Amino acid sequence: MNDDLDKAEAIAIKDGEIVEVGPERQILNKYTADKTINAEQKDVFPGIHDAHGHIMSLAKQRQNVDLRGVTSYDQMIREIEKHIAKNDQPIIQGRGWDQSLWGQESLPNHKKLSEAFPETPVALTRIDGHAMLVNEAMMEYANINDTLEIEGGVINLEKGILLDFALDYVNDQLPEPTKEDLKESIVEIQEELLAFGITHVHEAGLHREQLKLFQELADEDKLKINVYAMIFPTEENFEFAEKEGFYKNGKLSVRSFKIIVDGSLGSHGACMIEPYSDSATYGIMLRKPGEVQNVFKRVKSLGYQLNSHCIGDSANRVVLRTIDTLMKDIPDHRWRIEHAQVIHPNDFELFESSRALPSVQPTHATTDQRWAEHHIGHDRLHKGGYSYNTLRKKAGMIMFGTDFPVEDFDPFATLYAATKRKNTNNEPKEGFLPAQKVDYSVALKAMTLWASFGCFEEGQLGTLEKGKQATLTILDQPIELENDFAPNYAVLTLIDGEAVYDINLEW
Ligand SMILES: [Zn+2]
Repeated sequence: MNDDLDKAEAIAIKDGEIVEVGPERQILNKYTADKTINAEQKDVFPGIHDAHGHIMSLAKQRQNVDLRGVTSYDQMIREIEKHIAKNDQPIIQGRGWDQSLWGQESLPNHKKLSEAFPETPVALTRIDGHAMLVNEAMMEYANINDTLEIEGGVINLEKGILLDFALDYVNDQLPEPTKEDLKESIVEIQEELLAFGITHVHEAGLHREQLKLFQELADEDKLKINVYAMIFPTEENFEFAEKEGFYKNGKLSVRSFKIIVDGSLGSHGACMIEPYSDSATYGIMLRKPGEVQNVFKRVKSLGYQLNSHCIGDSANRVVLRTIDTLMKDIPDHRWRIEHAQVIHPNDFELFESSRALPSVQPTHATTDQRWAEHHIGHDRLHKGGYSYNTLRKKAGMIMFGTDFPVEDFDPFATLYAATKRKNTNNEPKEGFLPAQKVDYSVALKAMTLWASFGCFEEGQLGTLEKGKQATLTILDQPIELENDFAPNYAVLTLIDGEAVYDINLEW
């Protein structure tokens, strides 16, 4: 993945470092080794990064019943029964049901749920996070009754349905998963990531307590995957950064903050310069411009990096202008914009002048294509939405991630979405905004070399070259797809020369 996209046949590795890359005969003649890995002509790539993901959120989510894709009320009940049989939890939480998949338009009723679980409190959040179905035991547990009123929330006692802020009222009373359960989940998730050849996750936002779990895993030598943790700009986290400076503990490193500037496009929370096309709102700016500037100044004084979540064109403009006017005096600042989903056509230039780095999620484009035009209209979508090719050209580079668990972390779905602008069902047929396709070489760099640059590791990672760490993956199938999406996975993944995932190759 170097600039010339050189290809080679063999790699010599010593003490976790690449000592030479070249023709097979040259390497075999020059070196003897304790172990020789025959890649069987399969492709070897630098370890893949997910430049924006949430291991912690996924670990939390795994404690609950996953109801995504459930096609009937009865199946939902069976999923809960299965979960209860496997987990010893006195209170059941679930997430992901969508009654439209059951062929039902109106929200469901709690009766069946209450009959199936008369003693155990159950709270099930709808896929969009804006509605919750609760059984009678949960109503009793959480004191949901006809005297309860919640501003910004709706309670339908007869149906057992809560809406919007009423969900927070219940969620605040539900038990948090234990530290041990979360750590166990993180280790499980790590195995699944390594099986895809992912060797690095840029963990996009941790509170101090959550960071501690990763620190414990590193102390216990259980963290095998590289985690580049961004921390939220809280007082506790600033204290951590002041005390620790650039923090490195085994595979865990911390030298960046993450600030959330606006909401999301799907819920009309992303902050737009003009109102939404299907709703009389501009979205929400979660931070005032002055606050954004203050966080930048504080982070800069620590020498840390700041990565700003900006989805709407207004949020992007505020941060890009802040960087362009106040924050680009450090020659190598590497300030990142996470998502950069809708950019005002006049503002693409700001990526060039400010040298802000776009960090985007190609599968968001192919997921959001169903409703994006409805929300922001044809012009804004076509001139500045999900414009990864334009962003790459203006910024000189781009990073790719998935924002899992919002999307799956399958990097091959990301490659397909970025190069074909289609989802794994090969939709839409012509590709979504196909002018924004990028070539495979760009997409691969976005997940290797440029993502390594985005976490200050390009000197050690991102290419397979002499002197770099032997962090690489051998993939089962060729990476370029002509037509339809086809799954792929790693047969061997090495981090610093150590096999962290192996499907039993002959060694
Ligand atoms: Zn995220």
